[in-house]
Amino acid sequence: MRSSAPWRNWGRTEASRPAFRASPASVDEVQAVVRAARERGLPLKVVGAGHSFTAIAATDGILVDLDQLQGVRGVDRETGRVTLAAGTRLHQLPELLAPYGLALQNMGDIDRQSIAGATSTGTHGTGLRFGGLATTITGALLVTGDGSLLRVTEDENAELLPAVRLGLGALGVLVELEIQCVPAYLLHAVEHPEDFEVIDEFRDRVEAADHFELYWWPHTDRVMTKTNTRLPVESGRKPVGPVANWVEERLMSNGALAVMCNVGRVAPAATPAINRLATKVYGDREYTDHSYEVFTAPRNVRFREMEYALPLDEVPAALHELRAMIDASGWRIGFPVEVRAAAADENWMSTAHGRESGYIAVHRYVKDDPTEYFRAAQEIFLAHGGRPHWGKMHTLDHEVFAERYPRFGDFLAVRNRLDPDRVFQNPYLERVLGR
Ligand SMILES: Cc1cc2nc3c(=O)[nH]c(=O)nc-3n(C[C@H](O)[C@H](O)[C@H](O)COP(=O)(O)OP(=O)(O)OC[C@H]3O[C@@H](n4cnc5c(N)ncnc54)[C@H](O)[C@@H]3O)c2cc1C
Repeated sequence: MRSSAPWRNWGRTEASRPAFRASPASVDEVQAVVRAARERGLPLKVVGAGHSFTAIAATDGILVDLDQLQGVRGVDRETGRVTLAAGTRLHQLPELLAPYGLALQNMGDIDRQSIAGATSTGTHGTGLRFGGLATTITGALLVTGDGSLLRVTEDENAELLPAVRLGLGALGVLVELEIQCVPAYLLHAVEHPEDFEVIDEFRDRVEAADHFELYWWPHTDRVMTKTNTRLPVESGRKPVGPVANWVEERLMSNGALAVMCNVGRVAPAATPAINRLATKVYGDREYTDHSYEVFTAPRNVRFREMEYALPLDEVPAALHELRAMIDASGWRIGFPVEVRAAAADENWMSTAHGRESGYIAVHRYVKDDPTEYFRAAQEIFLAHGGRPHWGKMHTLDHEVFAERYPRFGDFLAVRNRLDPDRVFQNPYLERVLGR
C-alpha cells in the first residue's frame, strides 16, 4: 500500500483524498489488503474507471484498483461462458474475445468501464429483449469483508447470485466474473431525425427492433432515432469510412458539441437555435459494423448525467412532462435527452427489477450547474415510478429505495452476512443502503 494522491471521477462531480492506494496483483494480495483494512478500521473501496457520476466509488480510506487483475481466466467454448478478471476494461474485450468468436450480448454508450464497475452499478444499453450487463453474469468470485474468498455460481451459493451480480460495491471485492457471452455479431445501424411525436410510439419501436434508442434535443421538436439490427458476422461489414467516422464521432459528436456547449454558455439565448442546427447536422446515416463499434463511441466532452428507469409505458408521458417543464423554466439546455429500454430482470438492486423498463437520461455540460434542472427532472421521474441509475446523479436515500425495491431487505441481509463490519462502506452507500 502506498500513501495517496487525491482522486476524482470522470464527471468531476466527486473527489476524495484516500489515505492509501493499493493495486493488488493477485487474489491473495486482494485478500491481504481487505484484512489490513479491517484490522486498521479503515474503509476500502475498489475503483474501476471512475466513470460513475455518484460518489459510489469514493473513499477517504483505502482506494484499490484492479488494473493488475485484467484478462481472460477461462473460456467454456461449449456454453460461451467466459471468466474475466474483474479489473478488465470493456474496451479490451473485442481483442480478448476474438479468438473464441464471442462478444458481449449488449453494451451501453461507452467502453471505458471495468467489467466489475459496470455490472456493480447496473450499466445497461438498449433493447427490450436484453437485460443490463449484470444479467449476463453466471458466476463470481469475491473477497468478502473478513478477507475470505466466496464463490457464487448457479451451483454454489446460488441464492446469492441476484445480489452479487449487481452489488453496488457493498458486498465485497469482485475478483473474477463469469459472463455468458454470445457468438460475435454485426449490427446494421440506421440513424435519422424524426418528429418528437415518435415518443408516443416508444413501446412499438422498442418491440419492433433489436436495439432502439432516441435522443431529443431540448427546445426542438425533433428527435434522432437509432435502430440497430443484429446480423451474423458472415453477412459482411459496411462500416462508415474512417474519414466519415472521424467527422461524425470526433468532430461532430464531440468537437462540435464542445463548441456548441461553450457558445451556449456565453450566449444562452442561442441554445435553441444551436439545438435546431444540431438536429439537422447530426445522425442521418446507415452502416453495418462489429457490435462493439456500433454500440459504443468516444465521449470527449465532459458532462453530468442523471438517468432514471421507469416502467416502460410511463416513458411517453414523462417525456411530454419533461418537455413542458423545460419550456416553462426558461433554462437553456444544450445537451440531448437520451431514451432507451431494457428487459425486466431478477437482480434485486437492478433498476429494471421485475419490470420492463424505459430509461430517460438528462445531461448538462460540465461547466453548467445541473442542480435545478436535475431536481425538476427527478420529480417527474419519481412521479412515474422511477428508480435512479446507481452510477448517475440523484438525491434519494435508503427510505425511498426500501419502497421502490421489493427485495431491498433481502439485499441488506446479504450485506450483513458478507460485510458485517462495513469494510466496504462509504457515505454514498450509507445514504442509499443505511448503516
Ligand atoms: C461518459 C459516460 C457514459 C456512460 N454510459 C453509460 C451507459 O450507456 N449505460 C449505463 O448504464 N451507464 C453508463 N455510464 C455509467 C457507468 O457505466 C457506470 O457508472 C459504471 O459503474 C462505471 O464503471 P467504472 O468501472 O468506472 O466503475 P466505478 O465508477 O469506478 O465504480 C462503480 C462501483 O463499482 C464498484 N466496483 C468497481 N470494481 C469493483 C470490484 N472489483 N468489486 C466490487 N466493486 C467494484 C465501485 O466500488 C463502485 O461502487 C456512463 C458513464 C459515463 C461517464
